Amino acid sequence: MRKKPNSVWRKCKLPAIYRSCPYRPDRLNGKRNDAAGRSKPVPAWFYTMKRQIRTILPFFIPMEGCPHRCIYCDQSSISGYDHSPSPSQIACAAMENRGGEDAEIAFYGGSFSCLPLERQAAYLDAVQPALAAGCWQGVRISTRPDGVDGAELDFLAAKGVTTIELGIQSFDAGVLRRAGRGYGPEQAVAACRLIRSRGFALGIQLMTGLPGDDREKSLATAAITRSLAPDVIRLYPTVVLAGTPLAEAWRRGDYQPQTVEEAAALAGDMLALFQAADLTVIRLGLNPNPQTEKALLAGPYHPAFGHIVKSRLKYLQARALLQRAAWKKPAVLQYPPADLPLLAGQKNRGLLALRREYPDLRLQEADIERGTLILRWKGGEAVSTYRRFLEDYTAGFPPCPRREADIPN
Ligand code: SF4
Repeated sequence: MRKKPNSVWRKCKLPAIYRSCPYRPDRLNGKRNDAAGRSKPVPAWFYTMKRQIRTILPFFIPMEGCPHRCIYCDQSSISGYDHSPSPSQIACAAMENRGGEDAEIAFYGGSFSCLPLERQAAYLDAVQPALAAGCWQGVRISTRPDGVDGAELDFLAAKGVTTIELGIQSFDAGVLRRAGRGYGPEQAVAACRLIRSRGFALGIQLMTGLPGDDREKSLATAAITRSLAPDVIRLYPTVVLAGTPLAEAWRRGDYQPQTVEEAAALAGDMLALFQAADLTVIRLGLNPNPQTEKALLAGPYHPAFGHIVKSRLKYLQARALLQRAAWKKPAVLQYPPADLPLLAGQKNRGLLALRREYPDLRLQEADIERGTLILRWKGGEAVSTYRRFLEDYTAGFPPCPRREADIPN
C-alpha cells in the first residue's frame, strides 16, 4: 500500500484553497472518493510529482492567455497536457514537492502575463504557502514579449515571480510576421531589456526553420540574443503538428521543414555562439512525449535532439584538431571518460565517422579535463580545449551584417 505523504502539510495552517482539494495528502490512501462517493484511484500525476528534489516544478496552462494562435503551435501536443490544473491542484503539488537551491515553480505552455489579472493572481496565490514554507525559492513564467510592461512586472514581482521566459522565436521581422506572432523585433528587444532592468532572470526561447527563416537569419537572431545576455536559452526547431495552420501550409506544399540533420547543424552553430559567450542553453528540441509524437506530421523531431547537436560539435572539435595538427602515425586521440557519449554520438555515428576518416587513429580514455582532447604521436602532441574550439569555430562563421543593425537602442 502507498505510504501516506506526511510533511509540512500538517504543520502549516491550511489556507482555504487546500480545504477543497481532493488531492490533499492527508486525505489520500492510494484512493479518493469522487463527488458521488465512488472510490477512485489517485491520479498518477500526483504520485509522480511528489517527493523528488527538483529544480523546476512545471505546471502547464496550454495556450491560456494567448491572444491568438501562432501558426505552428499546439501546446496540448507539445506539453502533453490538454487542460490546465486548478489552483487547488497546483497548491497541493507545490506543497508536496521540494526544490533544491534556486528551485522554482514554473507556469509553461501559455502566455501567463496576458491572462486576466484575477487568473494570474489565482495561480500565483496558490503557490504562496509553498514559497513561504521554503519548498521553492521562486516562480518562473513563460509569456510573450508584448505581454509585459512596467505595471505587469510590478505585479509579478510582488507575487514572487523571479524568472520570466519570453517566447521570442526570432528577431527577424519577416519571420515573426509570417509566423503570426504579432510583434516585431524592437518590441522583443525592449521587453528583454525591461525584464532585466527590473531584476528578473531572463529566459529567451528561440525557434529555427520557421517559414521564411534561413541560416543567416537564425545566426543573426543568435547574435542579438547573445548581446542581450539572457540567463537561459531554449532552442526549438520548428515541427509540423496536426491541426495547425502550418500543417495546412505543409500539405499545400508551401512549407518545407528542416531535416533533423539540417536542424541539428544550425542548432549546433547557434549553441556554439551561445557557449562561446558563456550563455546557458537549457533545452535543445522539444521535450519527447507521446502526444507530440502522435501529432507530429513532419519536421526535425528527435527524442535525443540535444545529444545529436552536442555530439556533432564534439565530432567537429576532434576533426578540427586532427586537421590542424601536423601529426604522424601512429597516433592516439585521448578524451576524458565523461565525454565518450558525446564523442560516440547518436548510434556511434561520431566514432564511426572518425574511424572512417582516420582508420589508423587510436582512441583512448585519459584523465584529462572535460571538453579537452589531446592528440599524441611519437615526438609530439596537440591539445584542443572546448572553449578554444568554440572561439575558432564561431570565428569562421560568415559575417552577419544585420547583427548590430537589428538591435534597436
Ligand atoms: S506559440 Fe506561445 S503565444 Fe503562440 S499560441 Fe503557442 S503558447 Fe500562445
